[in-house]
Amino acid sequence: MKANLVFILILVFIFFGYQDADAQRRRGKSKKPKSAKVVQTPPNVSYTVSMSKPWTHLLEVEMVMNWPQMPKKAEVKMPVWTPGSYLIREYARHVQDFVALDANGNALDWRKTSKNTWQIDTNGAKAIRIGYYVYSNDLTVRTNELNYEHAFFTPAALLMYPKGQLKAPSTIRVRPYRNWKVATGLPPVAGQANTFKAENYDVLYDSPFEVSDFKELKFTVRGKPHRYVVTGDGNYDLQQIADDTAKMIEECYKLFGELPYDDYTFILNTRGGGGLEHLNSTALQWNRFGFEPESRYTAFLSLVAHEFFHLWNVKRIRPDALGPFDYENENYTKLLWVAEGTTSYYEGVLMRRAGLVNANYILDAKASIAGRLYRQPGRFQTSLEEASFDAWIKSYRPDENSVNRQISYYSKGELVNFLLDILIRTNSAGAKSLDDVMRLLNDEFYKKGKNFTPADFQDAAEKMAGTSLDGFFKKYVSGKEEIDYNQILNQIGLQFVSLLPESDKGYLGGNLSESNGRLRLTSVPANTPAYENGLNADDEILAIDGFRASRRFLTFYLGSKKSGDKVKLSVFRHDKLMELDVTLGKTPASGYKIVPVENPTEEQKRLYRQYLDEDLG
Ligand SMILES: [Zn+2]
Repeated sequence: MKANLVFILILVFIFFGYQDADAQRRRGKSKKPKSAKVVQTPPNVSYTVSMSKPWTHLLEVEMVMNWPQMPKKAEVKMPVWTPGSYLIREYARHVQDFVALDANGNALDWRKTSKNTWQIDTNGAKAIRIGYYVYSNDLTVRTNELNYEHAFFTPAALLMYPKGQLKAPSTIRVRPYRNWKVATGLPPVAGQANTFKAENYDVLYDSPFEVSDFKELKFTVRGKPHRYVVTGDGNYDLQQIADDTAKMIEECYKLFGELPYDDYTFILNTRGGGGLEHLNSTALQWNRFGFEPESRYTAFLSLVAHEFFHLWNVKRIRPDALGPFDYENENYTKLLWVAEGTTSYYEGVLMRRAGLVNANYILDAKASIAGRLYRQPGRFQTSLEEASFDAWIKSYRPDENSVNRQISYYSKGELVNFLLDILIRTNSAGAKSLDDVMRLLNDEFYKKGKNFTPADFQDAAEKMAGTSLDGFFKKYVSGKEEIDYNQILNQIGLQFVSLLPESDKGYLGGNLSESNGRLRLTSVPANTPAYENGLNADDEILAIDGFRASRRFLTFYLGSKKSGDKVKLSVFRHDKLMELDVTLGKTPASGYKIVPVENPTEEQKRLYRQYLDEDLG
């Protein structure tokens, strides 16, 4: 194959260059007496990532492994997932044109021994060079993309590791296309252009790369350098973004008392969506015209706050199973409701403290989550701990039944952390808060090199509350009881109310989507009239009582009916016309809000002000 031949020639050329340098090093050291003892050393691994033809979407990887203890059959492996995104993604499926050479440029035999393992006959070689391409045409924060505009890559989705050697250090050299620049959170190797080092694979795989003609804006917070690296057009004001980000970083500094990194890089692509947390960087993706209006910009800042807070919560304050990582299997934990839920909760907290949103922003967001949770029968089926544990098979694979079986450890986690913070504040008469829990976990676990367990988290929360919170955790964390909001909110002068109480208006239930004039059921929550009367997800609703159904008309028509009335629905199911008789139910309460209680006490006012820095009411 042509690609293979060219690739081998490139490898041979670079390999001999490398060998010369290596030989010089060896000659320089030759005067030292040889030790009789064979020291077990990790392999010396260096990667070169090239992108000579961006339009092919093929990132070219060269991996040189020098190893005195090189096995006769060396195995290299591609991770199957990347930390922070709890799904087996099978990165090996994008690998092609694998080759392996010895020091003389001779091709070595190899074979695949599993979906992500390449086994090489090393024939006594102590240095081998491996080459392969990775097809990279998927812009998400946990995959790779190479095209005319840039290369974004996630090392876990690109770089193989030697089996059993995840503690080995490595270097990675990037050969950019044309005038492109290279940005990553990894420290540079002095004197070598575009070359970076990682002390182990957890660090290497933690550090995404952006290679493009990016815009860069540097700023300093508490003496530490930070920068935004942005690829893509958009209606953003980078200086404004940096200024607002700096305010949130300052709030994190106040919370933890330090910024535990040498420098921090925000990689922003103005396509795609989402973010992924890292130790001293983050990958952010946001729609290029999604920085206006203000509500969209606030949502972007919320993402920034989330990923930045993660540098403590999950990257350093680590749940039991989340680091050091197993890159070949699922890493199970019951604590994603803390890793993600607590982090989601702190988005609003940091933005409020930074003066970027008001108190109502936080309260409205929580009421909205609570309202959505009421429409999910799955809240009685799956606890936060169960949702965390099963993230690998459920969270990233939602389907039409999710509404009936699952909850999100993000959103319910955010809600439960909100309530937990208030519980700690009110039980400690304002002396402690969830901040103190995070600080304790940082000091007693991260700083002491330990991961924390569910029991450790509960202990920390109880220590700060000064009382047992077992009931709270049993009901809302390991259990799946309906949340009693007012029992907790009232103590800080708030109440959870519905502006639209349950009514006798006709109600169908069922979640709808409408596109190109087609009205379709996307899911059918249990115990709704739609569910009980036999409607299915994917049914296309054509008419109600013989009248053409649009979403708007359906809402109007149902509003004119009463609970107990019967309607006839005409639907296409599997492209077959069907008629269904449906008895309508009562319209459930909606329009949830969190508002001040009437006549709050001085203590309620004090606690509220301390919490949200605004007067109650
Ligand atoms: Zn997150």
